[in-house]
Amino acid sequence: MSIITPAVLTTTQLVGGLVASAKNALDLAKASSDHALKGAVSELHNSVLDVKGRVLDLDEENRKLKAELASRDDIVGPDDANGYFFYKGKPDKPLCPKCYQSIPSNAVFLGPLSDFYGGKQRSCGVCSFHRMETPWKRHTISKVPMSPWGD
Ligand SMILES: [Zn+2]
Repeated sequence: MSIITPAVLTTTQLVGGLVASAKNALDLAKASSDHALKGAVSELHNSVLDVKGRVLDLDEENRKLKAELASRDDIVGPDDANGYFFYKGKPDKPLCPKCYQSIPSNAVFLGPLSDFYGGKQRSCGVCSFHRMETPWKRHTISKVPMSPWGD
């Protein structure tokens, strides 16, 4: 009996142990004259091999997702001023909050500040997101009174 508890074994080690046990049972069953037993153990061995392939695929997928989660820790936000997200080392280059918060997440830099009717705005080159960082100014025509009695 192993002195290592299952909790500290890796998934690969656990599955490897299970496959070895099934192979051992298969070898023992081959010596038996019981055909039903041989068939059942052979089927069990094949099923264990199928499960091994599936578990290793899931283990790899899990590893990738953990790496993706860890990379998310490098991004901070949303900020109070504009609701932007930023890479920790790039506080002057905001990410599009709409793209970043979509599923699957997409870290896209917003475009540079551009003039917009006297204000300043940023927009995303991937989606329709745009934000006025400095409000635009009304045209002089809005200063004309609406009526002769207007003030
Ligand atoms: Zn976007």
